[in-house]
Amino acid sequence: MTTSLFFLMWGLATALALPLLLPFQARGVGGVQAFIVANALAVLSLLSYASANFMAPGVYVMVSNAAWVCAVGLVYVGLRQFFGLRPHIARTVGINAACLLAFALMLYAKDNMGARMVLFSAYTCVFMAMAGRVIFQQRKQIQTRGVALYLMLAIFGLAALHAVRVVIYGTGLEQPVSLLQPSPWGLFFIVCGSVTVPALFLALLLLIQTSLSEQMQAALTFDSLTRAYSRRSILDELEHELQRCSRTDGQLAVLVLDIDHFKSINDRYGHAAGDTALRHYAHVVQNAVRGSDRFGRLGGEEFVLLMYDCDPARALIHAQRVCDALRDTPLYLQGAEVQMTTSGGLASYQAGDSADVILARADVALYRAKEQGRDRVEMAFSGRGAVRAQVAGLAANAPLAAQEAAGD
Ligand code: GH3
Ligand code: MG
Ligand code: MG
Repeated sequence: MTTSLFFLMWGLATALALPLLLPFQARGVGGVQAFIVANALAVLSLLSYASANFMAPGVYVMVSNAAWVCAVGLVYVGLRQFFGLRPHIARTVGINAACLLAFALMLYAKDNMGARMVLFSAYTCVFMAMAGRVIFQQRKQIQTRGVALYLMLAIFGLAALHAVRVVIYGTGLEQPVSLLQPSPWGLFFIVCGSVTVPALFLALLLLIQTSLSEQMQAALTFDSLTRAYSRRSILDELEHELQRCSRTDGQLAVLVLDIDHFKSINDRYGHAAGDTALRHYAHVVQNAVRGSDRFGRLGGEEFVLLMYDCDPARALIHAQRVCDALRDTPLYLQGAEVQMTTSGGLASYQAGDSADVILARADVALYRAKEQGRDRVEMAFSGRGAVRAQVAGLAANAPLAAQEAAGD
């Protein structure tokens, strides 16, 4: 009776993850359905042992073993689906069916409890080890620290527990007895299992939750069309960098870029082709700049490049490289080669700059680049008076301040 109560508690602890997993079904995350069914089957497996007093051994043992084998197989399949791998469904179903047949023979043809225990644990150990291998190989996809480790601990922990069980009963170290009248080793397996099985399903829940929040974070951080940084994140980064510059007297160059005559691409080839052109543009620019620079989309066909620790002269060379790369990388739309060019306005950090002020300076320079024929980069004027004048939209009348240049 006591052991039945223990199985009841174990089953209920495992069931805790079920209501938490269910809402994720509607979110279209790969593998969730398999995890839900696996969880329900694991609970069924444990509850059938809990209700052993009310059922014939031929029923509860078979129900419990069949439910567990399917649950373990589904955890493996679900993990593969979650990471977008081939799920190996046919292979898993085949192995499950063979196992169940063997269980049935060992139970109904000639009862062999020891062999059943070894097969049960060997199967669990192998499938959990395979599931753990999937997590290990895909661990880089889970960015949140500790989640992959927790998952591997739960999965490899379960695999290790069953490996020990195979050794204990496979080598005859201990005579197999029913789980309902456990020996010291039997009790050890029940106690460890009651920790690792609920931990496994909570870890799967954590994996789904983490992955969804990482996706949401990525959607906020990156522009969905071009994969450049989003407006919000690039402006946050700019503020952050300006603060660093003011603290450390550092250097920062801000290049505002705008595609030339982009509207004509949309008008001639359609909006979808325009989107392709935007992706091409972002790809070319990102390949042309230093890995440490940060490239973001401000909106429409306007972008910004933050060049860290870059003096104005060097920044100008990098900016011109962007124009050259775009000119030299052909874009094909509907079979036709489309010449894309870009103009840029370059401003360098000056003490006291806020994001609005430095961007406004770069914008004025961009405007000049457009006026002077496009496909070029212009540097912003420096000096407080010029900045204020430009920001106030008076740049045209402002006396020409010294241009930012090397050694300026
Ligand atoms: P300029 O050289 O003076 O910058 O001319 P432009 O044609 O590039 O500038 P304009 O502001 O006249 O046109 C920008 C166009 O960019 C208009 C708008 O429909 C298009 N656009 C903005 N966002 C997107 C987008 O996400 N996809 C597509 N396909 N087009 C976009
Ligand atoms: Mg434009
Ligand atoms: Mg524009």
